[in-house]
Amino acid sequence: MNEKYLRQLPAVHQFQQGESYQILQQHFDERQIVNVIREVLAEARRNILQQGASALQTLADYHAIVRERLHQMHQPKIQPVFNATGIILHTNLGRAPILPAAAHAASAVATGYSNLELDLESGKRSKRQLPLRSALQHLIGCESATAVNNCAAATIIVLRAIATGKEVIVSRGQLVEIGGSFRIPEIMTVSGATLREVGTTNITRLADYEKNIHENTAALMRVHCSNYRIQGFTESVPLQALVELGKKYHLPVIDDLGSGALEDFSQYGLQADPTVQESIATGADVVLFSGDKLLGGPQAGLIVGKKQWIDRIESDPLMRALRLDKMTLAAMEVTLLHHLQGGKASEPLPTQEMYRRPLAQVESQARTLATALQSYFPPGQIQVVPTEAYLGGGTLPDSAMPSWGVRLVHSDWSSEELAKKLRTLARPPVLARIVHDAVVLDVRTIPTRQQDAFTETLKELFEQQ
Ligand SMILES: *Cc1c(COP(=O)(O)O)cnc(C)c1O
Repeated sequence: MNEKYLRQLPAVHQFQQGESYQILQQHFDERQIVNVIREVLAEARRNILQQGASALQTLADYHAIVRERLHQMHQPKIQPVFNATGIILHTNLGRAPILPAAAHAASAVATGYSNLELDLESGKRSKRQLPLRSALQHLIGCESATAVNNCAAATIIVLRAIATGKEVIVSRGQLVEIGGSFRIPEIMTVSGATLREVGTTNITRLADYEKNIHENTAALMRVHCSNYRIQGFTESVPLQALVELGKKYHLPVIDDLGSGALEDFSQYGLQADPTVQESIATGADVVLFSGDKLLGGPQAGLIVGKKQWIDRIESDPLMRALRLDKMTLAAMEVTLLHHLQGGKASEPLPTQEMYRRPLAQVESQARTLATALQSYFPPGQIQVVPTEAYLGGGTLPDSAMPSWGVRLVHSDWSSEELAKKLRTLARPPVLARIVHDAVVLDVRTIPTRQQDAFTETLKELFEQQ
């Protein structure tokens, strides 16, 4: 019977004597210390009941566990990582890194007061979205604009404001799931609009839209096939034709672009996605896109288009629940102003720096990294290899771009074990890709200004192992 060993466990008050407890008291809240002691003792009790005296530890051992756990729980769990996956907009890794100037703007308004909802000229109350509206009008050429928390929220509020209790016509080829349970049919239900699906998965013609228009139709909607392609025998209706059909029946056309390209990506050898400017110029009434995909800003959902509809969206009570906070607004404004400068901006956005970086430079970065690491790997187990990087984040699925990486094979660890060590022991953690049973570090997604720090992190890790 193991119960008898339980009596040998220290009591809480025994922890509270001596110098090591006083040191804990200097750093941590008393209630947290006692909670952790109780937690550690409860675990010790369970272990003793299962394993007997062998599980019993000394007071000093238990003290060390308590101290370690208190330190652990006071460490921030969200931390910067190195993204060596080659996926530029990696949703799990926080999508777009933003401009340092945008982050500074967020920090400045966060740590002090700002004119968030105040017009400095008149001294009267104003609206928080006006600075973004002005920047978007200049940048996109739209009548009006507003912003919410992300593109998913934008989709919901747009459908709600324009089509609650009515039908919205969408092609069956565009009923997408973006990921994380964002599915167009379900978003439609949440918004209170009714989905009228038309056409087929591969073929939808203008007539399919037209014959489904009736008195309860509120809008025509196009959804960008962000993360997949329908290829082969296909037909879809160009935005231009949808806009003309909308005009004929006095119906607004909603264009959910998702990725929100502002520049022509074919200049980088990538597939050309419709830009937001093109969509507005073609006559879409309301266009929505993410702030943290190709725009390269903080998480947000931007809504641009005709004033009539933007006004209606802004007067929806849900707007209050979905509005942006001051930090995001400040960072987004700086990001938009940066786009407004175009080629005259002093530095590219961090995401632009990655996809614009010349291949020869990427290759030389991979070679420098491999040279720095070669003493930790026998010849043949470290190689500089050509790779494919991606824009990612549900944008341009055919957007593979040539890149370079360092391929690592370890004598003692499987590629999974090596990848786990990179994640858990490297400081900052390193996220790599596993390709054909080897770990590949793609250097395109390491910003050029962080390449040296990346190399140092890896050297430190392999030095210790
Ligand atoms: C990514 C995407 C969304 C969702 O955007 P979030 O900003 O992630 O909420 C919606 N629609 C399309 C077409 C997308 O590509």
